[in-house]
Amino acid sequence: MLIFDGHNDTISRLTPERFIAGDGESHLDLPRAGEAGFAGGLFATFVHTESGDPLSQARALAEVMPMVDRLRAIEQRAGDRFALCTDVAGIEQAMNDGRCAAVWHCEGAEIVDPNLDNLDELYRAGLRSLGLVWNRTNAFGMGVGPADTDEGLTSQGRALVRRCNELGILVDVSHLNQPGFGDVARTTERPLVATHANARRLCDHPRNLSDDQLTAIRRTNGLVGVNFHVAFLKVGGTTHSVGLDAIVDHAAYIADRIGLEHVALGSDFDGADVPADLADVTGLPALLDLFKRRGFDEDAMARITWSNWQRVLHATWDG
Ligand code: ZN
Repeated sequence: MLIFDGHNDTISRLTPERFIAGDGESHLDLPRAGEAGFAGGLFATFVHTESGDPLSQARALAEVMPMVDRLRAIEQRAGDRFALCTDVAGIEQAMNDGRCAAVWHCEGAEIVDPNLDNLDELYRAGLRSLGLVWNRTNAFGMGVGPADTDEGLTSQGRALVRRCNELGILVDVSHLNQPGFGDVARTTERPLVATHANARRLCDHPRNLSDDQLTAIRRTNGLVGVNFHVAFLKVGGTTHSVGLDAIVDHAAYIADRIGLEHVALGSDFDGADVPADLADVTGLPALLDLFKRRGFDEDAMARITWSNWQRVLHATWDG
């Protein structure tokens, strides 16, 4: 079964050469993606600062745009195995052809001018998914990091959501603080999407979603990509104390609470500590087997691995 995944940070770490040839240390690269049935996903460009420390627009652009160039370079050098996609038809074509379908997601909107002057240009450059914040404050809103003062989106943040709606850029609420989530919910006209987050009822972490937030996601016909990071799966979880079952637990909880059509995968590969039993992308087939043993039938798995994403991406980009 082919898997479309909501989030990885691989391109923030790997050169095109290492991604194409294979890399022993990352969670994801092209040879292992093929081996595992990893058919594509949102590929995040991400600039690290200490959690909570701000990031300037100049530095964000200087570091992010070369990462986008890496995605293009991979497509140029390995176009028979990799495609940078900007619409659902392109993703489906790539998946049918056996090419890894990558969509450019930017984690943290620091690359965007506070007055949105360059957003259209970023769209033309291929941006189709945008996390408003990482764990830090920016011109648009506040992340769940140490700088969080519990304020919601700024007026620029609300304008950014509206313009993303118009252009057809997915707005990712992962990493947003609770008031910011509420402001996106009140502003957006598209499905609410948390590309990589879990259920707070099972693991009380600020990166996870409360039952009320899950309900808001259901109301907009949105989606949660279940995150494989051990600390978001289980409080105090470590790579050896958390097994694959915990991933299925979160998916099952969200499915029970708001419906299977709102559950997908959002691995956070190369941005997370994943269970040792999963190890890397090649652990996905074992995870899918476990879902099946836990009662998820073929139809359920088809939804979780692609058709829920297909619906939400279509509604967001073409709606
Ligand atoms: Zn993240």
